[in-house]
Amino acid sequence: MTDRPAASDLIDPTLVLNCGSSSIKYALISADNRTRITGLAENLGLDTARIKHKNLEGETQEISIPGGQHQLALQKILGLLEQYRFVAVGHRVVHGGREFSAAERVTPHVLAEIKRLKILAPLHNPANALGVEAVEAIYPDMPQAVVFDTAFHQSMPPVAYRYPIPKALYDEHRIRRYGFHGTSHAYVSDRASTLTDKTGKHGWLTAHLGNGCSAAAVYDGESLDTSMGLTPLEGLMMGTRSGDVDPSLHIHLKRTLNMSLEEINDMLNNQSGLFGISGLSNDMRMIEQAAADGHSDAKLAIEMFCYHAGKYLAALSCALPTFTGIVFTGGIGENAADTRARILAVMRHFGIKVDNDKNDTLIRGAEGSFHNADSAIELWVIPTDEEYRIAQETRAALGIDTTDKA
Ligand code: AMP
Repeated sequence: MTDRPAASDLIDPTLVLNCGSSSIKYALISADNRTRITGLAENLGLDTARIKHKNLEGETQEISIPGGQHQLALQKILGLLEQYRFVAVGHRVVHGGREFSAAERVTPHVLAEIKRLKILAPLHNPANALGVEAVEAIYPDMPQAVVFDTAFHQSMPPVAYRYPIPKALYDEHRIRRYGFHGTSHAYVSDRASTLTDKTGKHGWLTAHLGNGCSAAAVYDGESLDTSMGLTPLEGLMMGTRSGDVDPSLHIHLKRTLNMSLEEINDMLNNQSGLFGISGLSNDMRMIEQAAADGHSDAKLAIEMFCYHAGKYLAALSCALPTFTGIVFTGGIGENAADTRARILAVMRHFGIKVDNDKNDTLIRGAEGSFHNADSAIELWVIPTDEEYRIAQETRAALGIDTTDKA
């Protein structure tokens, strides 16, 4: 007897693609979500371009594609997967602007809109569009859908999404808060509502803490506010991103250090956050180790990270009509038990009671709650599964049967 999955377990799989500027992540997911094949094409365009493919048996295979770009990488990936007869392709697309509040079937109009919206996501949307076109070129009849990172947050009310700046900038130039990590916030809040014993409508604060970090207030399945804004720089302190700073920082740095806008943008996106404060790394594991060894800047980086996250979550609770609980996810949220406890300690006026023993067990992919019975709100760790959510939304957008086929 073996419980290894067989090719026949991959019933009507959906291929989920996340095409970045120099990488493509992929996952082939069976309709019942019990089986998946995953992989990554990286260093695209460089001599070191390669595909790391994990097959059904969990064995990793490396395929070198020197100089290979998206089209070649996708040709190879689709070649590796075509034996499994996938029924649809779903693409993660970063920015859907005001135009898209749900996943969409790919049409020439939708593709043109994704390209047009590059003004809001210059690095991401063009790469996402390339992925759609590459699949179309190889399989012209394959049904494809796009799932936007911003779509889940389109339910935010104007009071949350408008900036207090002149109206014309919104009316004529779409300057507003959009929010990101939408598929993750949607997945974990949905899952929390399934797992809780509480009945009625649920109000969750979801904390996606990874290299990028964002929090959202989700009530009855709808995002009411989130920490990221026009771009994924606003909000929480992150791995290399600053999160909120005084908007006058730009002019101050220009006047005093003669820094250009590009230099300031690079500094705030790539040299700040945990990395900027610790001076060591953007990797929380390394910073935790350094802090344990007495490195004072590493200690401050962790304290600031937790303080900013706790302060933001407390502020976002204002958006919720009722407050059921907090859900942690992302690499840090799913693994760093001490960081979770510190963030909750910042929220000291909320009647939160942490079960520390349970909290310590919720690492490495474990899912569960860690609040005491007398806690005012629930506390959950839910490993995010953006690929699964994209597969689900893709099937729904394409009208493919989503009932359990097991
Ligand atoms: P993500 O972007 O979701 O992959 O998350 C990446 C972040 O999660 C990095 O800062 C990692 O250091 C952090 N991370 C992953 N595993 C752990 C762990 N066991 N303890 C603390 N942080 C972790």
